[in-house]
Amino acid sequence: MDLGPQTQASARRSRPYDPTLPPTGAAIEAFWSRVVKAPGNGCWIWTGAVSDGYGRISWRSSGVSRTEYAHRFALVITSELGDGAIGEHRCNEPLCVRVDPAHLIASTQSANLLYAVACGRTGIIRNLAQRHDRQARSLAVRDAVSGGWDPDAYSRASGNAAPLDTPPLF
Ligand SMILES: [Zn+2]
Repeated sequence: MDLGPQTQASARRSRPYDPTLPPTGAAIEAFWSRVVKAPGNGCWIWTGAVSDGYGRISWRSSGVSRTEYAHRFALVITSELGDGAIGEHRCNEPLCVRVDPAHLIASTQSANLLYAVACGRTGIIRNLAQRHDRQARSLAVRDAVSGGWDPDAYSRASGNAAPLDTPPLF
């Protein structure tokens, strides 16, 4: 296909990006291959790319790309994320991608802020240190479960209180 000189020039200048690009079948397959599920009612942990403490997934279709939060991707593929809605974690696990009232729901920004205030959170990352903490924690959580679900390793990495049968190793 000959795109013509003008189109080719603009393609060289910028990578085509479309924030509304629908998830492809390959992207959905790749997404689930990077999710490790805790048994029962536990979290489903994203083990792919992590940025700012949140999972990220990128995909392409017909030369156009889109990058999305992993938890938003989960909401998009379950068709529960409408225009202007955002993902909200009820389980306080930024890497969780389990669409469930106890874990991850679609919410409006204002409702999310009210919920964050009610929980004593601001919903806003105030400074770089806080952001670094979340990134470090998420990387530790990802590494703890990337080889398969490990409740003890998850508890240690996440800092989420859960009684352990054996004392921590460090
Ligand atoms: Zn969860």
